[in-house]
Amino acid sequence: AEEKEDLNIVIAGHVDHGKSTIIGRLLADTDSLPEGKLEQVKETCRKNSKPFEYAFLLDALKDEQSQGITIDSARCFFETDKREYIILDAPGHIEFLKNMVTGAARAEAALLVIDADEGIQENSKRHGYMLSMLGIDQIVVLVNKMDLVDYDQDVYNEIVEDYTKFLHEIDIEPETFVPVSGMEGDNIASLSDNTPWYEDETVLEVLDSFDAEELPMDKPFRMPVQDVYKFTKGGDNRRIVAGTITSGQVSVGDEVVFYPSGKKSTVKSIEGFNKPTTVSASVGESTGFTLEEQIYITRGEVATIDDEPQPEATSRIRANIFWLGRNEMTKNKEYHLKLGTTKVRARIEEIKRVIDASDLSQNEAKNEIERHDVAECILKLDKAIAFDLANEIAETSRFVIVDEYEIAGGGIVQEALEDKQSWV
Ligand code: GDP
Repeated sequence: AEEKEDLNIVIAGHVDHGKSTIIGRLLADTDSLPEGKLEQVKETCRKNSKPFEYAFLLDALKDEQSQGITIDSARCFFETDKREYIILDAPGHIEFLKNMVTGAARAEAALLVIDADEGIQENSKRHGYMLSMLGIDQIVVLVNKMDLVDYDQDVYNEIVEDYTKFLHEIDIEPETFVPVSGMEGDNIASLSDNTPWYEDETVLEVLDSFDAEELPMDKPFRMPVQDVYKFTKGGDNRRIVAGTITSGQVSVGDEVVFYPSGKKSTVKSIEGFNKPTTVSASVGESTGFTLEEQIYITRGEVATIDDEPQPEATSRIRANIFWLGRNEMTKNKEYHLKLGTTKVRARIEEIKRVIDASDLSQNEAKNEIERHDVAECILKLDKAIAFDLANEIAETSRFVIVDEYEIAGGGIVQEALEDKQSWV
């Protein structure tokens, strides 16, 4: 059988608005659960005389990672006739951002859950904001718990109207809103009689209508260097430059350039891990290659191809930062910035403007960035790094800010600036 295409999605929304319930529903209603799992969880609930909840399915699956089919540490899978979906789990704020900016950088679409009864919360807006900052523009907004508002169309319409207005302010064109009940299963896999006024697509149909293309295959080749391994082959001392390809592809014979050093060589061989040697490797693959010349490369550089568009390399950038740290982000304090596999020291040189993500109020005179603020600022780094701009190659434009060992914010590079001053 032909392999189905994948689509990576994230599910966002205020706590308790029903994310886990909806994930449980999606898994159950697409028959993506391991055999007998649903019955087993229902039986456990019966024994403990507590009502069954779809959210328990997730807990049960997480309890048995050994299963290895439906869930691994941070991901769930479900399938429609069209494709396989991978839900990148994002339990909390920090995790959400961390996943989005680092591991889950490849999310192609998002489900944003809003509780119909509680209405739009600050987090509903913050998450919308983050999605927009991260360049995820395929969004389906699920107005959940419709059962709690007696499937009232007016309640639904008001949320749709208000949230659409908000999304427009941040330049997102919402794809679709769907009135659902995760608990009752309305409009998730099939249209519900409880909402006769809604005759549009189900959640699964909306998801199937999204584009999966996003895999940045046609973009320029980028591979942040993870490590350089030395080995000997036939008496030769050789080095393998290893990493995960974040966009494009590379082939034997390509002339590669590393940034920020600018060193060049030609790809001699491509070595997969536990895979036979190939002539090319592409986006998403963890790979390694050897070079014709012995050039000295270190972790943190970005491998590119000479005749393709090149990345930026500088130690001063303009960026949008989304701050989640307990302490505010201030000038005069030193942070670490991690982008790809590089980690450098960073300081705020200038805060251009700060936006409160909940009400979008702007403040130009602030001297610090508070938790949950989005700020446009100039960052000064202790040395040059290689990156791309958000509107060119999103994958290599995202970074996280580390404040004393903890990820406290994430951001996207908007502009490469000239740097005339040295660090300190
Ligand atoms: P999360 O924190 O966003 O993952 O939310 P959960 O999925 O854990 O749901 C929070 C609570 O809301 C649980 O008690 C669910 O049973 C309840 N809940 C979720 N979806 C619905 C729904 O569609 N209708 C009703 N009545 N309750 C729901």
